[in-house]
Amino acid sequence: MKKIGKLDKPDNHGTAEIFKQPILEKITKTHAIIPISLFLLLSAFFLYQAYSHSQIPIGIGIANFLGGYVLFTLMEYLMHRYFYHMHPNNSWKGRIQYSVHGIHHDYPKDKKRLAMPPILSAGYAILLYYVFYFLIADCVYYFLPGFLLGYAAYLSIHYALHAFQPPKGPMKVLWINHAIHHYKDPDVAFGVSTPFWDYVFGTSPKK
Ligand SMILES: [Zn+2]
Ligand SMILES: [Zn+2]
Repeated sequence: MKKIGKLDKPDNHGTAEIFKQPILEKITKTHAIIPISLFLLLSAFFLYQAYSHSQIPIGIGIANFLGGYVLFTLMEYLMHRYFYHMHPNNSWKGRIQYSVHGIHHDYPKDKKRLAMPPILSAGYAILLYYVFYFLIADCVYYFLPGFLLGYAAYLSIHYALHAFQPPKGPMKVLWINHAIHHYKDPDVAFGVSTPFWDYVFGTSPKK
């Protein structure tokens, strides 16, 4: 099996240090509920702005909202497959990859390392606002909430996959796919919240 962290097999109980400096180290530990709440609040704020200040017809607004959600699921897949699982060819790329994802493969049940620090996620949200605003102008007030809701859903689902037992019913497939990704083959099942993109790009786990 291909290694992505530093350990030979995942450690379900431990944690690792990213920085020696205690304040920096503390910043890297975040409970997922913090960015989830932040993104939900931001979504609600933008939707309120859209509803109260823009002239965009509601049908166009809903289409943009759904477009934002779907784009997030695609970004989630592509980031996980090509950035988190990149093949680092120098030591600083290796360090970045380990800090953002290798560490999660080494210690999959370390609940404080299931989400990015809020300062980084808030930075991303602001950057995305400007990028989307540049591309689609006022539609951003519907598009960005859809995107951020997708992000909040991903964080919630990923947290649940590691913290809770699989449920009965169709949602169980998410637990099975993510367990295969962590414990059997890290080159399949990159779509954490949306297995759809694994079907599209041919990285679904074999039955
Ligand atoms: Zn995981
Ligand atoms: Zn991974």
